[in-house]
Amino acid sequence: MTTPHKSFVLMLEGVNKTFDGFKAISDLNFYMDEGELRTIIGPNGAGKSTLMDIITGRTKPDTGKVEFGRDTDLTALSEHEINRLGIGRKFQTPSVYIHHTVFENVLLSLKGSRGVFAALFSRTTPAQRGRIDEVLNTIGLAGKGGRLAGSLSHGQKQWLEIGMLLAQDPKLLLVDEPAAGMTDEETHKTGELLLGLAGRHSIVVIEHDMAFVRQIASKVTVLHQGSVLCEGTVDEVQNSEQVIEVYLGRKKKDKH
Ligand code: ADP
Ligand code: MG
Repeated sequence: MTTPHKSFVLMLEGVNKTFDGFKAISDLNFYMDEGELRTIIGPNGAGKSTLMDIITGRTKPDTGKVEFGRDTDLTALSEHEINRLGIGRKFQTPSVYIHHTVFENVLLSLKGSRGVFAALFSRTTPAQRGRIDEVLNTIGLAGKGGRLAGSLSHGQKQWLEIGMLLAQDPKLLLVDEPAAGMTDEETHKTGELLLGLAGRHSIVVIEHDMAFVRQIASKVTVLHQGSVLCEGTVDEVQNSEQVIEVYLGRKKKDKH
């Protein structure tokens, strides 16, 4: 009897990556269901960003499987090809076009946009305008389409960049520390935005801010020295002996 093959949106198995003798990713296994919102935490240097680099093809693993959907081998594809498959990534610092309007920023990211010049100087179609309005609504920037992106607050720029990813209608969204540098209110709004996107998209969020993690997380993966230390709900990982040891540098039993 064969076990039915469970289909993951993303699967990494036995992944290793060494930089100049330093093992950044070590026998890593990571599985994600379609539509899941997964949060990754872990101390600095744990390999969180490298994991995203490997998924997006920016870094190639030395060994191991990285598969997207039923059986697409991401290790064989370029960064560009992986992006075209529907994997979008948001880096920590916002990189919006500050001299263009909010509307233009989203327009430039729309699927099928034929280059910057064509996108900006040809007439936009009603379908494009409809889609841009939809994106601006989702990211809480409705009515701000005419603003220069450079005039937005830090939080608004981060949302715009998420909107630029959404314009490409990604299946999988990778978001690295979205709440960094945000006010508490912006952080909370970002959480609501991500919660609203889950289900329609599969999302991986790297985050440090535990209040934010608690707001958004259903399943948390703790990364340590390049592999998964623990996975579970926020409460489960916060009460895990191994996690406490890694974060606080001591064992529970040291107390007595
Ligand atoms: P995290 O995001 O969890 O803080 P990173 O994935 O950025 O950790 O880094 C993990 C380790 O790998 C760090 O020690 C870092 O210096 C190293 N590293 C990451 N990328 C590179 C690279 N391109 N070249 C050399 N070392 C790297
Ligand atoms: Mg990082």
